[in-house]
Amino acid sequence: MNNFSTKKVRKLYILFIVISCLLLVFGLLKTMWGLAVVGWFIMACAVFFYLVCYRCHNCGKFLGRDSVKHCPHCGSEVE
Ligand SMILES: [Zn+2]
Repeated sequence: MNNFSTKKVRKLYILFIVISCLLLVFGLLKTMWGLAVVGWFIMACAVFFYLVCYRCHNCGKFLGRDSVKHCPHCGSEVE
């Protein structure tokens, strides 16, 4: 299921968070609630994707919020 490298996962996560924040802020400022809801939805999807995919390839545990070079659980190198 996990075909992404951890670097790619982080890049995609940050990209989607930025997009969702822009939609959310724009939607709230312009009182376009549909846009704000889409922003929330994309943010929720991004967090879910991050939690599911940002994992160690060796032990499968979540790597945490920070960018890491080695898995904090098993110590194996992270791609
Ligand atoms: Zn590990």
